[in-house]
Amino acid sequence: MTFDPALLNTFMLILTGFGGAFLAALWIALVVWTNRDIRKRARDPLVHILATVLVILLNLPGVLVYLILRPQYSLEEEYQRTLEEEALLQAIEDQALCPGCERRIKDDWQICPTCQTKLKKACLKCGKLMELAWNICPFCGTPVPGVRKEGPAEEKVQASPEEQAEDGGRKPKRDSSK
Ligand SMILES: [Zn+2]
Ligand SMILES: [Zn+2]
Repeated sequence: MTFDPALLNTFMLILTGFGGAFLAALWIALVVWTNRDIRKRARDPLVHILATVLVILLNLPGVLVYLILRPQYSLEEEYQRTLEEEALLQAIEDQALCPGCERRIKDDWQICPTCQTKLKKACLKCGKLMELAWNICPFCGTPVPGVRKEGPAEEKVQASPEEQAEDGGRKPKRDSSK
């Protein structure tokens, strides 16, 4: 078996060619990846250019440096975090306070456990909780007993015959004027 140095040379050349091509592809891939990644994490175009140039110049070590220095969260993650924080703050602000003692109360409480101020009332028919000021249940339409008798409804009933009489008196006048 004869050993041909020319064959070995060709083999080495092919190997080097493949290796070179692979390294070039890897280099381009790293640059593209870095560029995509920094776009997700930063809005500043200057930062995009700097990160990409860093990887173009330094290649793998550049990627390592980039991984250490890049912003921890992507813009979308940052946005989600802000939303969550806002929702949390909103939840704290939205918590109702007792009008009597200004302690936090829950929406489904009828009476403040601390100062025993009446907070809500229950509908007699469906039992759902209503604001104290409501005269009618918004869930089932049942009027609140006691409130209606004293409320404007009775005034209307009393006033209506007089109004009708007034209307009846006015209408013929209008007719006669025409
Ligand atoms: Zn209270
Ligand atoms: Zn009801």
